[in-house]
Amino acid sequence: MEFNQPLYDYVVASAKSFEESLDLRPVTPTEDAERALKYFDEPLADKGSEPLDVIKMLNEVGEPGVVSSRGGRYYGFVTGAAMPVSVAANWLAATWDQNAGPYVLSPTAAVVEEVAGNWVLDLLRLPLESGFGFVTGATMASFTALSAARLSLYRKSGYDLKADGIRNAPKIRFVMSEEIHPTIIIGLQYMGYGKNEFEFVPVDDQGRMIAEKLPMLDDMSIVICQAGNVNSGSFDPFEAICAKAKEAGAWVHVDGAFGGWIRASKSRSHLADGMDKADSWSVDCHKWLNIPHDSAIAIVRDKRALQETFGVVAPYLVTGEKRDPDHYTPELSRRARGIEVWAALKHLGRDGMGDLLDRCCNHAKVFASELANMGFTILNDVVINQIVVTMDDESKLDGFIERVQQSGKTWFGPTNWKGRKGFRISVSSYVTTDQDVKIALKAIEDALN
Ligand SMILES: *Cc1c(COP(=O)(O)O)cnc(C)c1O
Repeated sequence: MEFNQPLYDYVVASAKSFEESLDLRPVTPTEDAERALKYFDEPLADKGSEPLDVIKMLNEVGEPGVVSSRGGRYYGFVTGAAMPVSVAANWLAATWDQNAGPYVLSPTAAVVEEVAGNWVLDLLRLPLESGFGFVTGATMASFTALSAARLSLYRKSGYDLKADGIRNAPKIRFVMSEEIHPTIIIGLQYMGYGKNEFEFVPVDDQGRMIAEKLPMLDDMSIVICQAGNVNSGSFDPFEAICAKAKEAGAWVHVDGAFGGWIRASKSRSHLADGMDKADSWSVDCHKWLNIPHDSAIAIVRDKRALQETFGVVAPYLVTGEKRDPDHYTPELSRRARGIEVWAALKHLGRDGMGDLLDRCCNHAKVFASELANMGFTILNDVVINQIVVTMDDESKLDGFIERVQQSGKTWFGPTNWKGRKGFRISVSSYVTTDQDVKIALKAIEDALN
């Protein structure tokens, strides 16, 4: 095989100019850049193009149309910025083109992923005997973990779900807070349930489940709580919830998409005390770990339940002593996404990850106090990296948010919180500096006038 030097040289040079432009380019594409995307809209040609021409077109037309979420001033949704070490790991792993399914298809992918998963258990102080699967995002991680939860409860009750199916099965109860992330609902809908079957538990002013308001639980109940409310960043009271659940023999799942990482913070890990007492967890890697999309981990204390749910059994799939990654995920064939998790954690170490989290939280504090000084109202207790903000005259919000977004200096979106319209800032990027926060605050101030 001949190495296509010009092709890869062009990619490296383009990546360099992209990364170097991140501080200067508009945070979201200009209208012209979006309009130019029409050049992609052409009929499939009979004759192909040279690889370098293909990649040149992709870069020249596509790059201006990307959102600069890899820079330090994108605060929309909960969005991390891939660290260079994780992008480099992604490139190398892509050139290896490994299938991280069965061990025999890629010993490197299997081993590196196993190490990375064990590091995450260690870093988040979760039970070390847990099984874990590397999936695309927290949505799939929750679907994966909840599927294993269901199988585990049925196994205990003596019902063989895989043989006898869901239609004849005894009922499972799903208990969750009124503030649960919508992707939990979607995940349960993939599993065949409907919203009207769920039991919703009231929350307090920060969006935390009120443990005293939990219904009576039993050994066919799955309680779903969260580490990091997507608006306020608040944490459900895990100690109290898990105590009640344990007593009843119920299962507890924690959606820790971004907030779950707070267990690695030196100053704020107490917010997630008791999270380790749950039975399963979902954590996103493409958010606060700051690695490329798509990446998340489903973690299940009852490792065998995860294996029994997803292990593909076929005569041609040999299984041995080694860990087969595909026995822990809905997918059989997939990319070796665990390699980026390994690279990020090897680079950061325990201290580096703790510092990354604390830096984001400290920037959030600055945003909150400066915005309050400007006359905005902060609607949440800013405990981690999330700030929910509003202004006295809510009718001015839409215009204000639009002016900020159009400034190209920073980006965040609207939200609703406790009956108030507002906007939401999430500082999730390793690269955000004090200077970035200043520039964003200036853009906010300008948009007020
Ligand atoms: C982002 C998020 C999700 C969904 O994660 P994806 O990676 O987009 O699938 C679920 N729960 C919470 C709390 C989130 O912040």
